[in-house]
Amino acid sequence: MMKIDVLTLFPEMFSGVFGQSILKKAAEKEAVEFNLVNFRDFADNKHQSVDDYPYGGGAGMVLKPQPIFDAVADLTKHTENKKTRIILLCPQGERHTQKKAEELANEEHLIFICGHYEGYDERIREYLVTDELSIGDYVLTGGELGAMVVIDSVVRLLPEVLGNEESHIKDSFSTGMLEHPHYTRPADFRGMAVPDVLVSGNHKFIEEWRVKEALRRTLLRRPDLFDNVNLTDQQEKWLMDIKKEYE
Ligand code: SAM
Repeated sequence: MMKIDVLTLFPEMFSGVFGQSILKKAAEKEAVEFNLVNFRDFADNKHQSVDDYPYGGGAGMVLKPQPIFDAVADLTKHTENKKTRIILLCPQGERHTQKKAEELANEEHLIFICGHYEGYDERIREYLVTDELSIGDYVLTGGELGAMVVIDSVVRLLPEVLGNEESHIKDSFSTGMLEHPHYTRPADFRGMAVPDVLVSGNHKFIEEWRVKEALRRTLLRRPDLFDNVNLTDQQEKWLMDIKKEYE
């Protein structure tokens, strides 16, 4: 079972996300155990303060190293032999991707550190964490939403968490490309019909159509993804044909 600890000053923010849908089911199936830790509880000063003014002056407060170092030490005290990934959420980190989610899904123990205020004391970044992750090129108030995004993307990849009908194998990015379009009943909705091939019952043609439409969608929306995907000869040929349609 994967263990996920989250260090946050706002543990209540997670109850909705961890208490619903797939993440809730994942915990019930014992695929994952969530543990929320308010690192204020580890502050060694009488006012339980976790932040202080920046050396050198300037705006904003900085999270002190002591509560976070001590909280991590407590969470890893029985896990010397196991490798723990200690993940700092920050806009300056590596951009989170499906590949990173797949990598983290192979680990046994993840600790997420959610920042707040102006940022962290740099020694947390330098001496404590194993990974720094950003969820995009914008600045959030705190790391909680970022941690939720990363945790959701990892937990849904754990074995047994998604049923067959929700499989992630063909999801966008899992294949290296964007996913093909989906349709459901009715076949004709107010004059808008689904593509004939999908109601043909011919599974070979349907599979071919899906691959071609994934290629088309990736070409039109995210052609940069083709830089990191190995297409088969057949897929290369289909892609050339699709490109010709737009010349
Ligand atoms: N002063 C910092 C900077 O310019 O890099 C931004 C601090 S931000 C207001 C407070 C916290 O929100 C960060 O420490 C981090 O935990 C979280 N955060 C903000 N933007 C984020 C992003 N794009 N991805 C992940 N976490 C983010």
